[in-house]
Amino acid sequence: MSKSWKESLKSRRYEPHKHCIVCGRAIPLGQDFCSTECKESYTKADKSKSRKSTIQFVVIAVVMVVMILLLPKLAGA
Ligand SMILES: [Zn+2]
Repeated sequence: MSKSWKESLKSRRYEPHKHCIVCGRAIPLGQDFCSTECKESYTKADKSKSRKSTIQFVVIAVVMVVMILLLPKLAGA
């Protein structure tokens, strides 16, 4: 009796599964989230992250353009 209990525990432990990338809960393979709530929170975080990197890119581009415009003036003076 105790043997079958152990076997069921073992098979359960090695059952293929993934973990929700938001909260870490065990989920079946082929899924990324345990619930639509986690999916929404993940997509929201992803959007804000990409927006932040876009702002950083624009700032770097502006600084580079200003440097390119100012460098000849500084060299000439
Ligand atoms: Zn989750």
